[in-house]
Amino acid sequence: MRGALGGPRVLLRRLREVMAEPVSAQEKLDRIVVLIAGNMVAEVCSVYVLRADNNLELYATEGLKPEAVHRTVISTDEGLVGLIASSAEPLALSDAQSHPAFSYKPETGEEIYHSFLGVPVLRAGNTLGVLVVQNRAYRVYTEEEIEALQTTTMVMAEMVASGDVQALAPPGQDIAVRRPLALKGVSLADGIGLGYVVLHEPRIIVQRMIAEDVNQELVRLDRAVQALRASIDRLLERGDVAHHGEHRDVLETVRMFANDQGWLRRIREAVISGLTAEGAVERVQSDTRARMLRQTDPYLRDRLHDLDEIANRLLHSLAGTSFGGHKGALPDNAILVARSMGPAALLDYDRSRLRGLVLEEGGPTSHIAIVARALGIPAVGEVANIVGIVETGDAIIVDGTSGDVQVRPQANVEAAYAEKARLRARRQEQYRRLRDLPAVTRDGVAVSLSINAGLIVDMPHLTETAAEGVGLFRTELQFMVAERLPSTSEQQALYEQVLAEANGAPVTFRTLDIGGDKILPYMEITDEENPALGWRAIRIGLDRPALLRSQVRALLKAAAGRELRIMFPMVATVDEFLRAKAIVGKEKAYLKRHGYPKPSAVALGVMIEVPSLLFQLEEICREADFVSIGSNDLMQFLFAADRENRQVAGRFDPLSPAGLRALRMIVTQARQHECSATVCGEMGGRPLEAMALIGLGYRGLSMPPAAVGPVKAMILELDVGALTKTLDEALRKEGSVTSLRARLETFAADNAIPI
Ligand code: PEP
Ligand code: MG
Repeated sequence: MRGALGGPRVLLRRLREVMAEPVSAQEKLDRIVVLIAGNMVAEVCSVYVLRADNNLELYATEGLKPEAVHRTVISTDEGLVGLIASSAEPLALSDAQSHPAFSYKPETGEEIYHSFLGVPVLRAGNTLGVLVVQNRAYRVYTEEEIEALQTTTMVMAEMVASGDVQALAPPGQDIAVRRPLALKGVSLADGIGLGYVVLHEPRIIVQRMIAEDVNQELVRLDRAVQALRASIDRLLERGDVAHHGEHRDVLETVRMFANDQGWLRRIREAVISGLTAEGAVERVQSDTRARMLRQTDPYLRDRLHDLDEIANRLLHSLAGTSFGGHKGALPDNAILVARSMGPAALLDYDRSRLRGLVLEEGGPTSHIAIVARALGIPAVGEVANIVGIVETGDAIIVDGTSGDVQVRPQANVEAAYAEKARLRARRQEQYRRLRDLPAVTRDGVAVSLSINAGLIVDMPHLTETAAEGVGLFRTELQFMVAERLPSTSEQQALYEQVLAEANGAPVTFRTLDIGGDKILPYMEITDEENPALGWRAIRIGLDRPALLRSQVRALLKAAAGRELRIMFPMVATVDEFLRAKAIVGKEKAYLKRHGYPKPSAVALGVMIEVPSLLFQLEEICREADFVSIGSNDLMQFLFAADRENRQVAGRFDPLSPAGLRALRMIVTQARQHECSATVCGEMGGRPLEAMALIGLGYRGLSMPPAAVGPVKAMILELDVGALTKTLDEALRKEGSVTSLRARLETFAADNAIPI
């Protein structure tokens, strides 16, 4: 059996010499395949490059017929080469022709070769091509040979990604690495943004792949690992790890990997095979990514993120640069791309240059989504592997309305989106023109429209939309973007500012709604089997009264001399509300005792989010000054369908007879008991759903600011009398249909109501 001549180090050294020669990219590739074939003692060495059309094109060969170059094209679901490209795994066969995937290309003359070794050319886990060696004899390729060939593909990957090889592509046959991609994620914040990629955590671009002195590279690697361990230990000791998502558990995992001998051994082996320390980290990470990206297990995918983070930290440690978000400064028309990002990090960026946000994680109700919406930044989440796919400076389009992301778009796609953005701007302009019209239906029913807010940056929307007030102020956002628990006076300062900006318009503050999916990084939260059904919101407030008292005190002080509206989230029993009310009573007494000025009036309300309240409406209405329906939670609990879980979140429709009857029951009973009932969940901000709510009897809706225009446009064309009749009849006669959505859409279409 023959083995590699001179080993991978000799090969890499030769490769470096070839790369430095002043010859064309094609000539370089031609020389490289000759070099590899010679080094591996193989009759054939061929390189296939993945094209944008998902076919692999033969770019260079030693041993196959030269006329096949740039002519032989293999689809990724065809043959052994296709199999390697799609699986991203090496394949070594002593008798290739007996493999079921073997397919034969007559123009290459390859039928005389029996053994076959192919490895994927990977970059950041993405396949760029396939490198193959073949022998006439039935040869068994050793682990070392497979490893050696994989190492050479690192150099190949950089070459393919560089402009030189791309220039070899015949017109219309662009290679995959720079291909336009249409990706699908989930919509986080509406709007369309066109711009250029800025990576939140910029990757270190490895410039030097091939080691000049392997021993020196090993020393560099060891030093960098030591420095990395020390820096993580320091961060963990400091305890101040809340910023930029550097949560303790992430760091603990990173520390675990930094001490993981298996991972470090693989990197050392890659260095020994001739790569620089940086090249070796990249090589090991790229292989790991390729393997893990093909996993569907969410646990394993999470580990990939951890591994990415440590690899990135190690590269920074090797480069002597500091790891941590890209701070503040942005080029014009920046679209931020990140694996995940905390709300505080987003707020650090210069809003005026930011056109969009794309994340690998982040559901529609995540904190980052709420902040992106507040800032009016189009955002898309759950875009698989986006960080691995894009490079800084790539053109990118974010459609936050549909959840589409276009990477390196072609001119026609870009033109279509630019037109879409113009149309949207025109529509916004039309909504702005509705601003000063009262929200009154055709048959004279007035509907009060308010906005949902949570940050001070939300407040200017009140004037922009001419909404009547803030129907839901989510106070937890201040806690979520802070690095530590805000003090009573810090809370008071925010509430004072909010009330000042509201300029006399009513603001309904909701007390801290944490727990469930809303985690404060600095707070110890115990692991719960079902956090949505667990220790959250008012439950925490009543069990930890100091927290609730501090907030209520801040609110009472901030509202000195004005009306204060407070509501409590996730109330499940009347008693919980009474206990919350008692806390307000105590704090009012405290203010009096210490001579602080008090609010002119205090209205206390309850969010209806837990279905148990539907059967205590009379009692709750007697005790509360108002109720507000949190339809996001109410529907998740009514249908037992997790609002964060995409597999079930869309399964049940709030416009189903069950959902609508529940909502009708609340508004009818509240009216009987002279208690105001409004809606502040997302439902109220969607024109069709808002129309249904008005038809059921609701006269107050609170919604994201961007929804005020579209909802008002709907109201202006609505005849509530006719709608209520249609809705009542449908609820009477069609109680067993899955949803009345289609029915309501028809009503809107028949009556020319924009929805
Ligand atoms: C709701 O549940 O509908 C609501 C408004 O509260 P949040 O979305 O903050 O849970
Ligand atoms: Mg809720």
